[in-house]
Amino acid sequence: MSNPTRVLVLNSGSSSVKYQLLDMRDSSRLAAGLVERIGEQTSRLRHTCLGTGDTREHSGPIADHDAALKAVAGELSRDGLGLDSPELAAIGHRVVHGGLFFTQPTVVDDEVLTEIERLIPVAPLHNPANLTGIRTARALRPDLPQVAVFDTAFHTTMPESAARYAIDPRIADRHRIRRYGFHGTSHAYVSRETARLLGKDPSEVNVIVLHLGNGASASAVEKGRCVDTSMGLTPLEGLVMGTRSGDLDPAVIFHLARVGGMSMEEIDTLLNKRSGLFGLCGDNDMREIRRRIDEGDEDAALAFDIYIHRLKKYIGAYYAVLGTVDAVAFTAGVGENAAPVREAALTGLESLGLAVDPERNAVRGDGSRLISPESARVAVAVVPTDEELEIATQTYALVGKHN
Ligand code: AMP
Repeated sequence: MSNPTRVLVLNSGSSSVKYQLLDMRDSSRLAAGLVERIGEQTSRLRHTCLGTGDTREHSGPIADHDAALKAVAGELSRDGLGLDSPELAAIGHRVVHGGLFFTQPTVVDDEVLTEIERLIPVAPLHNPANLTGIRTARALRPDLPQVAVFDTAFHTTMPESAARYAIDPRIADRHRIRRYGFHGTSHAYVSRETARLLGKDPSEVNVIVLHLGNGASASAVEKGRCVDTSMGLTPLEGLVMGTRSGDLDPAVIFHLARVGGMSMEEIDTLLNKRSGLFGLCGDNDMREIRRRIDEGDEDAALAFDIYIHRLKKYIGAYYAVLGTVDAVAFTAGVGENAAPVREAALTGLESLGLAVDPERNAVRGDGSRLISPESARVAVAVVPTDEELEIATQTYALVGKHN
């Protein structure tokens, strides 16, 4: 029998499971779907078989991740792509926090699960859900390799000077406090794709990657290795995001507690869920913000300006960190689609060799493309991210060898 070539990618959140089934012979997608609102009465499963184009939706209570994965397995079976198929090589799981321990994708065993569990205090929102996903998948196919691909892994190459906060290292180490960074699979994929777009090997180029989605982060990638990134101990640090504040003076937190009388829980919610673009103007969707700006809305205009100011600061900072920059790459929902954001972020940076060509920037498309002027010193690119493909590629590279 020929070697199995399919990889199922699972991204398990606290109340959702996103999945894609890929065939790694040509990286094609066979099926994709999403289970939402797990644990509620109004759960929903939406499944698409990419071969036939069939989409099926089911509504009704799905009690837990176990039930969700069984429902996904059922849908895959209906398309002849079941989890029992001998063509399935592995299941790749997105795991948000791998700490310092996991620098590479890792085949899951009991020890790996224990270590991911030990990281829950630094990723209380994400790692428990990721663990549930892995355990459930393992129970369904105990014989199949399960691979954990960590959001933090790409950033473990950061030097201590970038990864450490300026606090007592004994206290930091005791509580595992350092800058880990997130969106690593996206930064890895996009920096590599950008090199490919330039016709170079990743080891030959320095790239600033701007992952601008609802969550947003920037990274400085030197010859294929991450040397700095904007998210820190948690995804709260750095850029202005859809609902997260990004950088702020830590004393704001003491002030809100002491003077504002808010609890830690309330402050956590405020900064993670009710800040950023949403906190500033009541909308976190860049399309809506642009529409409001066009209508003369001042709150939306100020939110946009604050967003761009922070972004520009990080581009300048990472330019300085890298010394030489070959490319700036925009990715994720905002980065791939919002031409005004790309233009505004680079306006005034012409002396650094950075500019967008207005016509190229305005072209809509789904592929990787250059948007800098022909003669530009630094390439500016739009590179659609593909975290599922990156997880599948890393998973297959790890287990493909053993099959
Ligand atoms: P992501 O987290 O990568 O899925 O990005 C989601 C965000 O991308 C949304 O909240 C929007 O702000 C933004 N977005 C998606 N499509 C567009 C678009 N066509 N124009 C501007 N922003 C967009």
